[in-house]
Amino acid sequence: MNLEVLYRQVIMDHYKNPRHKGLKGYPNVHLRNPSCGDDVTVEAKIENEVLKDVNHEGSGCSICCSSASVLCELMTGKTITEAQEIINNYYRMIKGEEIDNEECLEEALVYQGVSKFPARIKCATISWKALEDLIGEAKSEGK
Ligand code: ZN
Repeated sequence: MNLEVLYRQVIMDHYKNPRHKGLKGYPNVHLRNPSCGDDVTVEAKIENEVLKDVNHEGSGCSICCSSASVLCELMTGKTITEAQEIINNYYRMIKGEEIDNEECLEEALVYQGVSKFPARIKCATISWKALEDLIGEAKSEGK
């Protein structure tokens, strides 16, 4: 099995069986990508600079919905410093740039092919941008 087939299977699995789907009422950020119809809300329970629980809700294309599922699973339990580093590496990977810490991306590595499809970059990063906003809010509030 080649890597691209494996990556597609991981993406379709998260799309069909999303993890951490459904909001529990924590602070959230809602973002939309009108060009594709993606509509995503990401929420995070942040305590002592740790992402205790990260969930998502919304609808959209397979790239958008699956990447939200991968994001929430990957980020739950991370500190906000770790989360920001992972987000930065993810953005670099999506843009096709060199990344210095590939291991930290874990399952999110399946989106590296997106760099070849600029129109899908927004789909793959929208939920990540929402979490980044939440981390920024938590930092400014000193949580
Ligand atoms: Zn999309």
